[in-house]
Amino acid sequence: MLIVGSSHDEAVAALRASYSAIPPGSPVRLAKTTSNLFRFRDAPAAPGLDVGGFDRVLEVRGDTAVVQGMTTYEDLVAETLRHGMMPTVVPQLKTITLGGAVTGLGIESTSFRLGLPHEAVREMDVLTGDGRIVTARRDNEHADLFYGFPNSYGTLGYALKLTIDLIPVKPFVKLRHLRFSDAAEASRAILEIEDADFLDGTVFGPDEVYLTVGTFTDSAPYLSDYTGQRIYFRSVQERSIDFLTVHDYLWRWDTDWFWCSGAFGLQRPWVRRMWPDSRKRSDVYRRLVALDKRTHLTARIDRWTGRPPREDVIQDIEVPTERLPEFLEFFHEEIGMSPVWLCPLKAREKWPLYPLEPGRSYVNVGFWGTVPQQPGKLPDHHNRRIERVVDALDGHKSLYSTSFYTRDEFWRHYDGATYQALKDEYDPERRLYDLYEKCVRGT
Ligand SMILES: Cc1cc2nc3c(=O)[nH]c(=O)nc-3n(C[C@H](O)[C@H](O)[C@H](O)COP(=O)(O)OP(=O)(O)OC[C@H]3O[C@@H](n4cnc5c(N)ncnc54)[C@H](O)[C@@H]3O)c2cc1C
Repeated sequence: MLIVGSSHDEAVAALRASYSAIPPGSPVRLAKTTSNLFRFRDAPAAPGLDVGGFDRVLEVRGDTAVVQGMTTYEDLVAETLRHGMMPTVVPQLKTITLGGAVTGLGIESTSFRLGLPHEAVREMDVLTGDGRIVTARRDNEHADLFYGFPNSYGTLGYALKLTIDLIPVKPFVKLRHLRFSDAAEASRAILEIEDADFLDGTVFGPDEVYLTVGTFTDSAPYLSDYTGQRIYFRSVQERSIDFLTVHDYLWRWDTDWFWCSGAFGLQRPWVRRMWPDSRKRSDVYRRLVALDKRTHLTARIDRWTGRPPREDVIQDIEVPTERLPEFLEFFHEEIGMSPVWLCPLKAREKWPLYPLEPGRSYVNVGFWGTVPQQPGKLPDHHNRRIERVVDALDGHKSLYSTSFYTRDEFWRHYDGATYQALKDEYDPERRLYDLYEKCVRGT
């Protein structure tokens, strides 16, 4: 049932009815039209929970916004920019939703100073596994849910309405692409850079590391446009200074899904010319990947042409900034993919299911591609190696993609005791999936 256009209260009433209509014992899943997870599985036979009525910004007032849980950042940013504001952290893919980023941990180039999307949440209404709708805040009787929600991936409940902090913007962003000849030099710079609004980085090779420092400006001598023929990630190598509108800056990575659009030939000028600009979007590419996974087309072509089978290595991990050089050294040597995305971050508070040390500088390292499987090794050898190395470096791994931890390892990393207590409190009948089952076993 589509309930777009109705009020939030009506959407809540319809959702309650939809939830109670799911027979006990049947799996509960969201029926959403977009996703940015990288765990592909067959569509479930049972109908999902209809959340079509939860995709709007309800109010922007001063430095806060009241937003429904399934609102995409594309819509949220469009609305807040009209008020001269933006969310404190805007994940780069347009169809990531506010609820998805809060429960699944988003990150972006403001994270080095403003933390993570869930740290901007003042309060949220959550439909819990036991069918209640509770308001969770830092200081109320549901503070345990508030703090346990990030990294729970919808296994404790679904965020329906959130009040979040906003920050003021200026119309333009000035970018400086600084080149470093190794990761150690770049890591030292990350620890020192303070006077900036945005900070991220791109690694093209062991001796070619860039940090991109962004600052808001009121005027710009020129404006670049990477939504058509030109490609943003190439500009990092090609120019040292650049100017974008704040809108284009926030979505600079979406047009080419960082650099992953190359898999569809989109970085060849003639393909790029023929591909409509309106379809140069991460959700379009993700749908194509989902189709490929369903049809096994690429795997079949590899088999027919005698190429070795390939392993997807699509992960985001965090390591303490001073250990970034060690991680990249391992990565270049054993995985060997480039480019790689760097995003420095500092958590402001402690969040039990994703225990970053508050105030400590970490770097998120993102890499999305495939490598040939190694003869005699497990098909997921590289992903398992990454998990081991990240652990050894006192880091963490995001759970939006595949994971291979044993149950014990997993709960050591993601605070099993707190999680089980939250499950007992908010989903005692276990109507929602278990986090380990969902993220590792792929239920
Ligand atoms: C290639 C790639 C690169 C990525 N890079 C980044 C990045 O750079 N920065 C970044 O911020 N993120 C990145 N992500 C991760 C992304 O932010 C997370 O996967 C996020 O959870 C996706 O949110 P979504 O709204 O698309 O949710 P979905 O993909 O639809 O769902 C994700 C999970 O969240 C649950 N969920 C969805 N909505 C809610 C809700 N309202 N309440 C509770 N649970 C909910 C779902 O049940 C599901 O388990 C990347 C992902 C991929 C695949």
